Amino acid sequence: MEQKVKVMAADQVKIQRPDPDKRSNDYSPRSRIYVRDVKGKLEWFRRGFGFLLLFVFALIPWLQWNGDQAVLLDIANQRFRIFGMTLWPQDLTILAWVSIVAAFALFFVTTLYGRVWCGFMCPQTTWTFIFMWFEKKIEGPRNKRIALDRRPWDFDKLWRKTAKHTSWLLVALLTAMTFVGYFTNVRELFTDFWTFDTGFWATFSVLFFTFCTYGNAGWMREIMCTHMCPYARFQSAMFDKDTVTVSYDPNMGEPRGPRSKRTDYKAKGLGTCIDCYMCVQVCPTGIDIRNGLQYECINCGACVDACNDVMDKMNYPRGLIRFTTERNLEGGRTRKTRFKAVGYFVVMVIMATLLVWDISTRKPLEVDILRDRNQLYSISMEGWVQNVYTLKILNKSQLPQTFTIEAQGFERTQLLGTTEVTIDGGSIATVPVTLAVHPDEVTERVQDIYFVVSSTDGTVTEQHQTSFLYE
Ligand code: SF4
Ligand code: SF4
Repeated sequence: MEQKVKVMAADQVKIQRPDPDKRSNDYSPRSRIYVRDVKGKLEWFRRGFGFLLLFVFALIPWLQWNGDQAVLLDIANQRFRIFGMTLWPQDLTILAWVSIVAAFALFFVTTLYGRVWCGFMCPQTTWTFIFMWFEKKIEGPRNKRIALDRRPWDFDKLWRKTAKHTSWLLVALLTAMTFVGYFTNVRELFTDFWTFDTGFWATFSVLFFTFCTYGNAGWMREIMCTHMCPYARFQSAMFDKDTVTVSYDPNMGEPRGPRSKRTDYKAKGLGTCIDCYMCVQVCPTGIDIRNGLQYECINCGACVDACNDVMDKMNYPRGLIRFTTERNLEGGRTRKTRFKAVGYFVVMVIMATLLVWDISTRKPLEVDILRDRNQLYSISMEGWVQNVYTLKILNKSQLPQTFTIEAQGFERTQLLGTTEVTIDGGSIATVPVTLAVHPDEVTERVQDIYFVVSSTDGTVTEQHQTSFLYE
């Protein structure tokens, strides 16, 4: 990071102010970004957080619950097992609540702290930084990488490029297998894949997501954030003057210009920005934060670390680039409580409450009743009126349960057929029953009756209304 910088007279230094219109919207072919390595508190925090997320992502599919995979999004069998809970297509409201709560949590955090999700938690950022780590270890720091790409092919270049892409592909493959392990039995996948015993869809999914991870984190990188991610586009709707974002402070930095460490910059009328471009070189999206807030900025804080390092070396105060608000830069005090933030928070809490209520009132049993459509009714030898039904009983719990079936609504009835059934966890049983009713009780063409299905341990009961037909 040591640099020789030339001294300029203050009157030759061009004063620059952040200019949001300076960015060009014209199409231009992508210039490859060679990101400079950076060290600092934020970098360590992002790395630590990235490792934590990576660890959680890799661990979850391997957890067990009641002898089965704890989290299994089993699309083929239309059921999502999430620890002790199995969600069926009928439980889509729970997934809807989860999505809504997550969306409002994101809006709330974005209103307060800008795109911290993008900079510190987004998988695209985390995987890009992992890939960049391999790139740096194999090809060397920024200057070496630029030189390597410019020079003609030789053995050294060949083995470094091969090693880099092999390491990327390996990480991408492990990522894809772990991801697909959320949707299928992860233990079988990790053993069968290497012996080519996985089915077509599992193999296709692993290869597809390997390709996506390799392409996104290895090649696409900032293009995903700047051109493809919709969140980058609508974030401005959540920003206001009190949103904390990474910002350059022109009051401290301008007029910018190169100078030596010994120069009395105040006497020369300079600001603290020495125009070293370190903040630009460490930026994963290749922007110059000194041009003001830009939608390409993912709030990763790399430029904050880089600039603080420069300020330390120059013995200048830190914070020329820092997490702050527009209001603060204008000399005002940041308002912590704002209508928009409070609104997002209130909606998030309401939705989270509904989610908890939905989960807590959810019954691990679902009953569906179909009438026999071939014959409306029949008369038994004893003269009783009979209707035939098919009960579909879904045991939504993860353990086997025994259920009893009763009919209510008439005094004198007989339920013929299976009245007690044991169903495996997460399975459906189809139970045909015949309901016979004493003729004195059948007073109308259509009468309501109720089937009551109860677990023998008394934990769950489901009552279902249907019709009893005669003539
Ligand atoms: S790193 Fe700091 S001093 Fe260097 S150009 Fe960026 S803002 Fe100026
Ligand atoms: S400008 Fe700074 S915070 Fe924004 S993406 Fe670039 S390095 Fe990260």
